[in-house]
Amino acid sequence: MAYTALYRKWRPSTFDEVRGQEHIVRTLKNQIITDRIGHAYLFCGTRGTGKTSIAKIFAKTVNCEHPKDGNPCGECAMCRAIAEGASLNVIEIDAASNNGVDDVREIRNQVQYPPTDGKYKVFIIDEVHMLSAGAFNALLKTLEEPPEYVIFILATTEVNKIPITILSRCQRYDFRRISIDTIAGHLRELADAEGIDADDKALRYVARVADGSMRDSLSLLDQCAAFHFDEKLTYDNVLDVLGAVDTGVFTRLFDAVVRSDTAECLRTVSEMVAEGRELTQMVTDFLWYMRNVLIIRNASEDDRLEDMVEMSEDNAKVLREQAQHVDEETLMRYIRVLSELSGQMKFATQKRVLVEIALIRLTRPAMENNLDSVLQRLAELEKKMSEIPSGADLAAAAAAAAQQGGTAGPAAGIAAASSAPKEPKKVTLPQAEYEELKLIREEWPMVVGKASGSIRSALRDSFVNPISPGRMEIIVPDQMNAKMLERLDAFQQISDIIAEDYQREIRFTARGDGSVKQEDTVYVSSEDLQAAINFPITEED
Ligand SMILES: [Zn+2]
Repeated sequence: MAYTALYRKWRPSTFDEVRGQEHIVRTLKNQIITDRIGHAYLFCGTRGTGKTSIAKIFAKTVNCEHPKDGNPCGECAMCRAIAEGASLNVIEIDAASNNGVDDVREIRNQVQYPPTDGKYKVFIIDEVHMLSAGAFNALLKTLEEPPEYVIFILATTEVNKIPITILSRCQRYDFRRISIDTIAGHLRELADAEGIDADDKALRYVARVADGSMRDSLSLLDQCAAFHFDEKLTYDNVLDVLGAVDTGVFTRLFDAVVRSDTAECLRTVSEMVAEGRELTQMVTDFLWYMRNVLIIRNASEDDRLEDMVEMSEDNAKVLREQAQHVDEETLMRYIRVLSELSGQMKFATQKRVLVEIALIRLTRPAMENNLDSVLQRLAELEKKMSEIPSGADLAAAAAAAAQQGGTAGPAAGIAAASSAPKEPKKVTLPQAEYEELKLIREEWPMVVGKASGSIRSALRDSFVNPISPGRMEIIVPDQMNAKMLERLDAFQQISDIIAEDYQREIRFTARGDGSVKQEDTVYVSSEDLQAAINFPITEED
């Protein structure tokens, strides 16, 4: 018997077998049960998340002779014909290779004829964003007034390329990336059924590499199982097959980053390239490594580390050791730089250059001028300060200097600075609000520079904090300045500047308070926080 790839064999054949898209399945089943079926659907989402599988189940159910509870029976002639791809009622078109006006005309021809048996003709157009402009126009005509017996299901990975005229005629469903837990759970079920002997850790690794795509996870498992046929599939086996890097390399790389040893970082990359390692995968794995360090840093002594970080006890110990040499802010910055990098990698041609630049950014924060790296530089300075003789010694030195008739001068300055620095308060904001704030905060001096003369002087030494979505508070050193801003109608002017330069509607108020400093509060985006804590691929209901 010919071998059937796992992802074909395990393709869901009813709605209840679909994993990880419960919100979509529920809605579609309800539509079928209550007989309120639409005529145009748009399924959006990354590859391998179940768009075409669900489209086919939907096509089967609406044509099924004995649907059960919104699911196809799988046994009637219609169900069987559709499952075998032999039914004329389901027309699948791959728009990637059939994207011209003529192809859509062909669809329109077929739309004219009602189905000979069954109730609906279902047109599934995959990768619909690939249609040419002319083809979209032709399709639009059909979507405007489809016959009763026609259902269109358009599927796309790039919804931003779909014309608004098409969007407005479809019911839109956003397919989520499937969580690691869901994928790993499914892999376990399937491995047991197929008699594949596999470690949980191995399956979880496969699930993680699949990056939210169930289809990819099954292909990867297939690959691993074929390679280690008749053997137990272990974590190490999987690493081996998937060309992954063992944690030892990351331990070395992480140490080098923490030591700011740029040369060693670049050397490690060079070695990995020489060994033929896949750099995109390496970045993802290194990101996970850092995430694990962060988790371990926050774990208590009694936590079972190896469960939390999915690695052997020995490796977890190494991480615990490493976690002690780096503070949380710095780790968060590392993670941010790497997640940015990971996003860029997928479509980049010069992957190695990108990786090297990121490592330089990590090891030389002085080259960056954003808030994160400033904070890290500040932390480094503070550390150096603490290595300078204690405050008492400095005070004595200052007194001695004063006695000699000099001013207290720099020594007194250092003494004051070394008095315990206040921990900044950390506030989490929704991603959009965070981006907005970050941009405006960073460029606030420019905004102030554009204000008229008297407003500009009232804004001296000011900064902004968010209050609620679309509202920010300007903090000025004293109450008089705040009153002045009010009198000068400054808020309207600033809102106008922001609207023009950033296309954002923000309302401002002002508060005079000399004791509040910008550095008292650190803002983090909820996404970063999530990424740092848990790395869920997506949340599920
Ligand atoms: Zn049926």
